[in-house]
Amino acid sequence: MEDKWMTEGVTSPYDCSVWRSIRNLWLLVKDRIKIKVGNGEKVAFWNDIWCGQETLKQAFPELHSLSQAQEASVADLWTGQGWNLHLRRNLNDWEITSIARFHDTMARATNLTEEQDRLIWKGERKGEFTVSSAYRELRPSEEQQAGWPWRMIWRTKIPYKVNFFTWLLAKEEVLTHENLNKRKHNLCSRCYLCEEQVETVNHLFLHCKWTDQLWQMFIHKRKIKWTKPGRITEVLKCWNSDGNAGKKEERWRIVPACIWWTIWNERNQRCFEGKNNNIQKIKINCLGLYYFWCKQVVIGNSEDVSNVIDWL
Ligand SMILES: [Zn+2]
Repeated sequence: MEDKWMTEGVTSPYDCSVWRSIRNLWLLVKDRIKIKVGNGEKVAFWNDIWCGQETLKQAFPELHSLSQAQEASVADLWTGQGWNLHLRRNLNDWEITSIARFHDTMARATNLTEEQDRLIWKGERKGEFTVSSAYRELRPSEEQQAGWPWRMIWRTKIPYKVNFFTWLLAKEEVLTHENLNKRKHNLCSRCYLCEEQVETVNHLFLHCKWTDQLWQMFIHKRKIKWTKPGRITEVLKCWNSDGNAGKKEERWRIVPACIWWTIWNERNQRCFEGKNNNIQKIKINCLGLYYFWCKQVVIGNSEDVSNVIDWL
């Protein structure tokens, strides 16, 4: 199934840890979907579960072993009148019962149509995939414990890829040097921004003196007192609960993700392209992103840039 429904695996280290992580969930997702056959072009005849409760390879191992088209799609083997399994030789007498059973099973299979094949997500009644139902189904037990900041991670109105990125940050699994070293890449671990400290998730996204300037920019603009916690999960837990939020809670919620996404892009640009922005430019990038996300998902087109920034 993987070949037709999924993109290629990711091998480059750059800028793809979010997508790589999503893609790595495929095996978990696969167990929670069923296939609705349309034209049969994407469905693997022998290897997908599309007719009955198991693959045809499991149901008819003797026929599968004789087939010369073991990777074929459903559409490939349908002739219009019946199934052509491309068997290597004629069947022996003792194999006839198995082909009879095969035709009996296939008679119950859906007819092919003009429509595209579809995946049906079992986690929702309508069969459509949603991020929240996937999260419900897939979240590991640590996240089911009380206090995990899932609302801040998944209910903040930012692009989905950034929700995923925030989730990885909360789990401290973003591919910084610290995490690459855990996977034995043995890199010299130095922060790309300050070039002074070890590049850990909590340093890069919270405590680095460059990143701190972005935090201070928002905090000063809002005229509040806020003591920055030591870890990402702590920030997510307290960000909206210290009387920080006020009326325009939705806008305030996106600030941490906005800082993290800006820093991650700057870090990757320095790491992989050798281009450094100065702190003023990084601040402008961060405010630009903040305005863009506010406009995209929170306020629509109703306010202009100066109002949005002034509100802070
Ligand atoms: Zn640093």
